[in-house]
Amino acid sequence: MTSQVSVEVSGIDFAAAHFVSEGGACEQLHGHNYHVTVTIWGEIDSYGMVVDFRILKKRIQQLCKQWDHFVLLPAQSKLIRTTKKAQQIEVTTPNGKYSFPAKDVKVIDVVETTAEELARFLCQKLIVNLSSDFPNVTAVQVALAESATSRATVLLSV
Ligand SMILES: [Zn+2]
Repeated sequence: MTSQVSVEVSGIDFAAAHFVSEGGACEQLHGHNYHVTVTIWGEIDSYGMVVDFRILKKRIQQLCKQWDHFVLLPAQSKLIRTTKKAQQIEVTTPNGKYSFPAKDVKVIDVVETTAEELARFLCQKLIVNLSSDFPNVTAVQVALAESATSRATVLLSV
């Protein structure tokens, strides 16, 4: 008989700026202090764990650190276009144009930088990151809160 056990890591934060286009319009540039909670499902291994909490926390922190204190932009948006010109990222939106130093920007392979899409992206990266070391893991869930009242949760099977 196999049983599925979940372990949860929370309290991992990062701060980033973004804006989301919706219905032909675009939000103003603004920021969030994002809070990440990760739940991992799997079978207990011969060491009595699903995953080592210290390793899991470190890998989530590494993933989140790449976005901490950056402007997050979508690579797949229908309305937000990014172009790299020399050391700048030029961004065209329905509301106008921005130009950011390239070193301050992360262009992410998402449709929009919504909490849902960022959570999905983190979840997929974490599965890739964990799968070779933890073959007992069967599912990964990432919850990304952009405020105390707004949170997106993505659950993916391995
Ligand atoms: Zn926002």
